[in-house]
Amino acid sequence: MGGTFDPIHNGHLGIAQSVAEQLDFDRVLFIPTGNPNFKQDRKVTPGPARAHMVKLAIKGHEHFELDTCEVDRAGITYTADTLKELTERFPGAELYFIMGADSAATLVHWRRAEQVADLCHIVVVQRPGQSMEFVRAALESSPIAFSVRYVDVPQVDVSSTDIRERVRRGDTIEDMLPRAVAEYIENNGLYKE
Ligand code: ATP
Ligand code: MG
Repeated sequence: MGGTFDPIHNGHLGIAQSVAEQLDFDRVLFIPTGNPNFKQDRKVTPGPARAHMVKLAIKGHEHFELDTCEVDRAGITYTADTLKELTERFPGAELYFIMGADSAATLVHWRRAEQVADLCHIVVVQRPGQSMEFVRAALESSPIAFSVRYVDVPQVDVSSTDIRERVRRGDTIEDMLPRAVAEYIENNGLYKE
């Protein structure tokens, strides 16, 4: 599961848990983006800090792992490169990329999307406020043959954007993310401006 994770929250953890159970996954790798291609318009928290928050969030989850390959890679990172690296690191593994409907709606425009389609199955989960019909239409009308699984998960109406805005306003973020992550944000003064 890739994401900016700025910060990681209960939506991310919830979909990972539910999908992993339903599809009987051996493990879920959380891969924070290095230099997100789609988010060059705003200041993203440095990779090591985002990765650390992931680490705090998944502590105690037996099947969850932090993977820093994108944070450690120089330049703009592309999912196609990451998947290539994962196939080399885990020969014979069957890879599934978990994503919310908003990400899935953009998938056909990703750099080397056909390579992404070749290297993994796509797991799409519903996200509050996102149209699933739009996602289906986008993927079905694409010339690229994605292997897509649509998986029902409990809906969690949380986004990192909302969390960042609440911190800036001084509002509570309790119940939106693990306590250890909220404490890290507070102790390091993240999202104050
Ligand atoms: P931001 O608001 O900064 O974009 P975000 O909450 O969307 O943050 P990302 O790191 O961008 O989080 O998302 C990583 C992945 O998790 C994406 O595939 C996204 O669709 C999915 N995702 C994030 N939050 C949810 C949620 N509440 N429900 C379902 N999927 C989610
Ligand atoms: Mg997002």
